[in-house]
Amino acid sequence: MTETAFKRIDWSSLDAAGKKTALARPTQRTAGDVTEVVRTILNDVRERGGAAVTEWCLKLDKAPPRRIAITPGAIAEARNALPPADTRALRFAADNIRVFHQATRPEDTPYVETTPGVRSKLAWRPIASAGLYIPGGTAPLFSSLLMLAIPAEVAGVRERIAVTPPNKEGGVHPAMILAAAEAGLDAIWLMGGAQAIAALTFGVELEDGIIPPCDKLFGPGNAYVAEAKKQASALPGGPAVDMPAGPSELMVIVDRDAAPEIAAADLLSQAEHDADAQVLLVSTSRATIDYILTEVEVQVATLPREAIARASLNEARAILVRDLDAAAEVANLYGPEHLSIQVEESEELVESINAAGAVFVGRFAAETLGDYAAGPSHVLPTDGGAKTLGGVTTASFMTTMSVQLVTEDGARQLAPIAARLARMEGLEAHARAADLRADA
Ligand code: NAD
Repeated sequence: MTETAFKRIDWSSLDAAGKKTALARPTQRTAGDVTEVVRTILNDVRERGGAAVTEWCLKLDKAPPRRIAITPGAIAEARNALPPADTRALRFAADNIRVFHQATRPEDTPYVETTPGVRSKLAWRPIASAGLYIPGGTAPLFSSLLMLAIPAEVAGVRERIAVTPPNKEGGVHPAMILAAAEAGLDAIWLMGGAQAIAALTFGVELEDGIIPPCDKLFGPGNAYVAEAKKQASALPGGPAVDMPAGPSELMVIVDRDAAPEIAAADLLSQAEHDADAQVLLVSTSRATIDYILTEVEVQVATLPREAIARASLNEARAILVRDLDAAAEVANLYGPEHLSIQVEESEELVESINAAGAVFVGRFAAETLGDYAAGPSHVLPTDGGAKTLGGVTTASFMTTMSVQLVTEDGARQLAPIAARLARMEGLEAHARAADLRADA
């Protein structure tokens, strides 16, 4: 048996700089100059519209962009292509995702009276249109379609445009059709990469129909997709974007009572994602780390995606900490996309965590359950984004506006204050607009 590639770290021996280095993300592998390729594609689509999108789709994915209508016929065909248990599993997941997002959709705050007669509240409104990118280069991630399109639907977004790359035959996996049906979409567009992001950014006319420019773009993707979202959002008047959602990450915190086969299975569930994924094991017990790494070695050899998992394990870390406070420090410094806590008092440790995309509490809360079916969206910030950003929720598809109501009495009290402050800033017109209310 070969020793696993986990890099072992003794946390208590490190100074601040050493801790930072120990938690550095792996540099992403990308072919060629992604920035330049993406800039070329965006410029081309801006100048030539749909014709450019079609050419890039043909060049990069060997198929023209296509609109797949989610008709009763298409749904029946997709259902026939899959075992009934697959269809039932998709529906189960979709129902849980909908229930969770309905229950957590933000509501308008009550009015707050700051001065008698002056009342304000925050009102939530859905954005008008959302472009949803569903990755599909290496696997058809229909789960990502559910995790984006259902929260958008619950938020009340009027226009949801979903795009996903075609498969090798130029078509789409039947589960993608069923997921689109579960999410209430009337179509999905088969196109991927930077050209799809460009289409959602500028709006284009294609043979199968028109794609309008979208207000905000969502979804994970490879380096081309991530770079295209970044460049699109930097354009004057360009769309907003959700977050950096790159290669997956999982940190597992265990104590001496953890079950090695479970912790090992969890680590491998993310390592198999792609070679750039990163997994980290944090433990108060050196012996437990040893057991788990041995178990990882046993399990990885039996995986269909062994080569990908092993490549990812080259960047894996096994971190020995003195106590659970130090484990929380590691998690908060790294800001993992996924954090699994498998210690005796798992729920208590959550209170010390303030930087993670999703936290899975206890040995039964496998990350895989959350990836597919627990309810919250699996579209989460990677690369330390969790320190300042949450994952996709209904709020991601909404905005707030403040609503302010002022009575005559309220104006009489507040207008002199506002007028004085306006004159202090040298803004006379502001002050006069306030004076008129005070004197009314
Ligand atoms: P993808 O759909 O992101 O990318 C495929 C597209 O990339 C193709 O359609 C093609 O047009 C374009 N492309 C490929 N090579 C190109 C080249 N040389 N030049 C220009 N364009 C090129 O699918 P993928 O590649 O499988 O990547 C999916 C990524 O999303 C993975 O890294 C995965 O880890 C990540 N992911 C993240 C999350 C999250 O929430 N953070 C969730 C799911 C997936």
